[in-house]
Amino acid sequence: MKIQKLLIANRGEIALRIHRACHEMGIKTVAVHSTADADAMHVRLADETVCIGPPPATESYLNIPNIISAAEIVHADAIHPGYGFLSENAQFAEIVESHNIIWVGPKPEHIRMMGDKIEAKRTAAKLGLPLVPGSEGAIVSVKQAHELADEIGYPVLIKAASGGGGRGMKVVEAEDQLESLMSQAAAEARSAFGDDTVYMEKYLADPRHIEFQVFGDGEGNAIHLGERDCSLQRRHQKVLEEAPSPALSKKERHRMGEIVRTAMSEMSYRGAGTIEFLYENGEFYFIEMNTRLQVEHPVTEMISDIDLVREQIRVASGEGLSCTQDQVHLHGHAMECRINAEDPVTFAPSPGLVKNYVAPGGMHVRVDSGLYTGYKVPPYYDSMIGKLIVYGMTREDCIMRMRRALEEFVVEGMKTTIPLHQKLVRDPEFLAGDYTIKWLEAWLEKA
Ligand code: ADP
Repeated sequence: MKIQKLLIANRGEIALRIHRACHEMGIKTVAVHSTADADAMHVRLADETVCIGPPPATESYLNIPNIISAAEIVHADAIHPGYGFLSENAQFAEIVESHNIIWVGPKPEHIRMMGDKIEAKRTAAKLGLPLVPGSEGAIVSVKQAHELADEIGYPVLIKAASGGGGRGMKVVEAEDQLESLMSQAAAEARSAFGDDTVYMEKYLADPRHIEFQVFGDGEGNAIHLGERDCSLQRRHQKVLEEAPSPALSKKERHRMGEIVRTAMSEMSYRGAGTIEFLYENGEFYFIEMNTRLQVEHPVTEMISDIDLVREQIRVASGEGLSCTQDQVHLHGHAMECRINAEDPVTFAPSPGLVKNYVAPGGMHVRVDSGLYTGYKVPPYYDSMIGKLIVYGMTREDCIMRMRRALEEFVVEGMKTTIPLHQKLVRDPEFLAGDYTIKWLEAWLEKA
């Protein structure tokens, strides 16, 4: 069914991103917003707006009854959840569909399956994806934990089955710490996710984080759009992403891409998804699958010329994928710097009034941000205020362009992480592409 009016159940740059794709497709948009976001850019640009509650996300962007009521009042025929908030909430997806509203996202059963990391690993194993060695299911006793840790060898990692954002995750270096760290991980998981189920993995010493972008039509056709390297992380949060990964050969990309594509095809996966792996000594290890659009999706768009939001909307309306794997042509190099309203040294949040805003431009430069001069960044939400994405024919071209674009970027009135990125893209080790998930934190300590 052709979508006429789509409700965007999100805020910030991703709400704007979705609005843009909709307008380019002739689809009207509805912005829902909290009282703190009345002046936000995506609210200003949307065709219709509905205030859904006070600033705390639990009372607005996570408030399912209010969002559904808003969709019914304005007669929206589709809902796009963006990332975060309700995007991986299978129950929300079911409620949307039960109201005869098109859910621009994966099938609810796939969201549920991949949201439970133990279930996700079981499914991944069945589909032939390589796993990190570890427990087959939940760890239910201290005795079992000891036996398994002895078998796979220390250090091991205790992870929460319902985990996200690095919470409920503990590295255990030696046997005598196992019992106490296991109960700490379980307690953290219980308070964060209401589920204290934990499992165990071998803790890989120094891997890269490499993830594959996949897309399915829900009927067995699937494509992959190559990988993104997201190893540059601080506290398990991605800081700068690039595609392709400097560590992969064309052959490895093709081999792994075919494995994930086949897996998605067998599942009859629908919509956009990301399969995350750790990569060490030439081997891939599946860690999780995200059943949504990712923050870093624009780097893939730059090297594939495929608009991922447009593709999501096509698939949700039953039009199928716009291309086959043979028609996917990956080229050049792209990078994304996440710009946060934070002190670039201490990372303390720094929301406030934007006194002056000048975004960089020029060839192959893209800025996804809702900022404008006079906008007040509210203190209630994530500190990411924008993304700078650039493209180049080669990695070197791309880095030179990123340096130039970062020089042009002006955000006055608050501290941002722009200076951190300016330094990072000049670092010789970064230039060499020679980094792992531990590299950035060590670099920040030296700096
Ligand atoms: P979350 O969903 O909480 O973000 P993930 O499973 O995606 O958890 O892992 C987040 C990050 O933690 C990874 O990108 C990686 O940096 C690190 N990590 C996860 N599993 C392992 C492991 N087995 N060994 C080493 N590092 C890991």
